[in-house]
Amino acid sequence: MKIYINGKFYQKSEAKISVFDHGLLYGDGVFEGIRVYDRLIFKLREHIDRLFESAHAIMLDIPLNKEQLVKATIQTLKENNLNDAYIRMIVTRGEGDLGLDPRKCKGHATIIIITDKIVLYSKELYKNGMEIITVATTRNSHEALNPQMKCLNYLNNIMAKMEAVQLGYEEALMLNDQGYVAECTGDNIFIVSKGELYTPPEIMGVLRGVTRDTVIEIAKKNKIPTHEHVFTRHELYIADECFLTGTAAEIIPVVKVDGRSIGTGKPGKLTQALTEKFRQLTKKEGARY
Ligand code: PMP
Repeated sequence: MKIYINGKFYQKSEAKISVFDHGLLYGDGVFEGIRVYDRLIFKLREHIDRLFESAHAIMLDIPLNKEQLVKATIQTLKENNLNDAYIRMIVTRGEGDLGLDPRKCKGHATIIIITDKIVLYSKELYKNGMEIITVATTRNSHEALNPQMKCLNYLNNIMAKMEAVQLGYEEALMLNDQGYVAECTGDNIFIVSKGELYTPPEIMGVLRGVTRDTVIEIAKKNKIPTHEHVFTRHELYIADECFLTGTAAEIIPVVKVDGRSIGTGKPGKLTQALTEKFRQLTKKEGARY
């Protein structure tokens, strides 16, 4: 496996960065996860745009422009001769000293591109649906660390994931600091109620997922009323269907939340229909390389 670091390719065992890199020392950096389906890079432009938005918000200059970053990504995929892949794009503040001050990172940002595979959940979970549980760790408040930035500091999500895993669940439902449903640790959440689709708005403390946007786009095209709307766990418990979306997870049905069956307790019809349409889209849309 060849990994891109600042314009050069390294074998996995040689792909290393400084222990003084502020991405490592402080989680000071941003990242993206992107999928490639049969040599089509899905929603590449949207991911690159979000990466630049996250970088802008933390005042991090990415030393390549968007076109150059696209080229570097394609080059990495070609070096590894991959048809299907999961791309991890990382930009850190770069090498500094042991203090926090980003001005001390005098060189430029570190850019890393890894192309690999990812499997988050078993086939059974996709077929039969997943059980999730609400955890005590709330999603970061937007005035503390806005979840709309895809930054390298993922401890908020990891703490929530650990709670779920300790309780024997694969994924955690995170509420925001006001108790409204936000998202899961690495995925957005949707519910279906009376044939209409609901997902929390960004202001509830969620990352504006590219898969979330894609599902909204598919739903609108198919005339399914779709709302970015605030809801509590109660609306979730009494929903007809529930599913999660994310680049790595894609679309995964949720059949139980906090011990309450959702709808029939089986993956819902609309969830299945949207999943099918999503799969079709990944087969025909994207940047070919
Ligand atoms: N929320 C969080 C916290 C995430 O990290 C992610 C990405 N894994 C998502 C939602 C889903 O975003 P996307 O569909 O763009 O992958």
